[in-house]
Amino acid sequence: MSELTSLTPRELTSLLSARKISSVEITRACLDRIQSLEGNLHAFITLAPDAALEQARLADKKRAESRTDELSPLLGLPIAVKDVLSVEGIRCTCGSKILEDYIPPYTATSVQRLVDAGVVILGKTNTDEFAMGSSTENSAYGVTRNPWDSTRVPGGSSGGSAAAVAARMSPAALGTDTGGSVRQPASFCGVSGLKPTYGRVSRYGLIAYGSSLDSVGVLAPSAEDIATILPVMAGYDPHDATSAKLGAPRANLDGREDLRGIRVGFPEEYFSEGLQADVEKAVREAIARMEALGAEIRPVNLPHTKYALPVYYLIAPAEASANLSRYDGIRFGLQPDSEELLERFVSARSTGFGAEVKRRIMLGTYALSAGYYDAFYGQAQKVRTLIKRDFESVFGEVDMVAGPVAPTTAFKIGGHGNDPLAMYLEDIYTLPANLAGIPALAFPVGFDQAGLPIGMQLMGAPFNENLLLGCVHAFQQHTDWHKQKPAI
Ligand code: GLN
Repeated sequence: MSELTSLTPRELTSLLSARKISSVEITRACLDRIQSLEGNLHAFITLAPDAALEQARLADKKRAESRTDELSPLLGLPIAVKDVLSVEGIRCTCGSKILEDYIPPYTATSVQRLVDAGVVILGKTNTDEFAMGSSTENSAYGVTRNPWDSTRVPGGSSGGSAAAVAARMSPAALGTDTGGSVRQPASFCGVSGLKPTYGRVSRYGLIAYGSSLDSVGVLAPSAEDIATILPVMAGYDPHDATSAKLGAPRANLDGREDLRGIRVGFPEEYFSEGLQADVEKAVREAIARMEALGAEIRPVNLPHTKYALPVYYLIAPAEASANLSRYDGIRFGLQPDSEELLERFVSARSTGFGAEVKRRIMLGTYALSAGYYDAFYGQAQKVRTLIKRDFESVFGEVDMVAGPVAPTTAFKIGGHGNDPLAMYLEDIYTLPANLAGIPALAFPVGFDQAGLPIGMQLMGAPFNENLLLGCVHAFQQHTDWHKQKPAI
């Protein structure tokens, strides 16, 4: 590994602002590393080396012409972007054949704000088709391999982003989290990943999956790295009616070095049957470590947690079935030859969508159909409210809630065979935060017996990203799980 690619975003940005390295040097180092590892890992769907080097040159020029205090701290930092976020002029496939040749005419607000700050985009990372999945096995462009063990999945759906950061192909990456897709791959790949509060980061230009659940997040080695990137991309956006009318969160981590005065909730519902023993052990040890750092650990109850899985797998497919109706063979993507309208619809959608996407469109259409709406979708919305209220009452007693990210470590490619339920169960601990709209931060806390990374998550009250980042930063100053790198 070149010395440059082994550095964290935080280290790179301080070397950049001290003018000790150039953006072109870092960008070249990343592109070289991508070239040498991509054949094995397949973290990217589309690379943009020429555009990246051009952006890097512009960043260097800007730095040469300006005073440091006039510049964004992110100027010249390369990142990778999940291939569901639109970037003008770069193909955006969403991991689907139906968008194989789609080139967005505009850039997602979250990405645009980073571009305006001088960030360099290396390319678009692999994802399960339309972000539906937990392994990247649903990508129409092939699976990404886990850098810790190439026979295993990197998690999903932001598996390409997680693998790219873990393998140090990119210092940081954007992902999206509808039901765990930033946190679970972060956990499987041994990196940190933030799912912000719903509405914290604009969804404009994010190709929709479940609009009431989708959020744009960041994957990077540490909480401190995420804290430098989040404030630049977050904040109110008039293009997204659900974006919160709040300023971006502060970048400072309150100089927190320990966890004194922090009340951490321990929900027994998150330590249920099916949790892999060494995952449970590592998470419990990390919570004990938080206690040793001054946190007060309190048992809390989130009694509706057990309904999160069925509720999510009604609401997300229902929203997906509506969102995906726009792929009709006319407006976007695949354009079948047929002159006959119905034939065009049928041909584009049956050849363009993969099996999981079709399954969810059917599930969602059924849940929304006239005779079943109240029994399924309506009921799920009511239970969603109960899940949200569980958190509201708990956040009266504690500052954050701790738990595992996923019940297992990275599983084998093909390990869940054709069993969609086994795959859905991977999301059991991540879904509640999306249903409640609250922020959650995943970070590495150990390794299992096979040497695979284990993650845990802290969930916070709405818009409390800074507290989560500050507390994990304190934890990471006393531990070095986040510094471990796969031997590739
Ligand atoms: N694995 C979940 C799903 O398949 C979550 C995906 C996501 O967060 N995008 O829907």
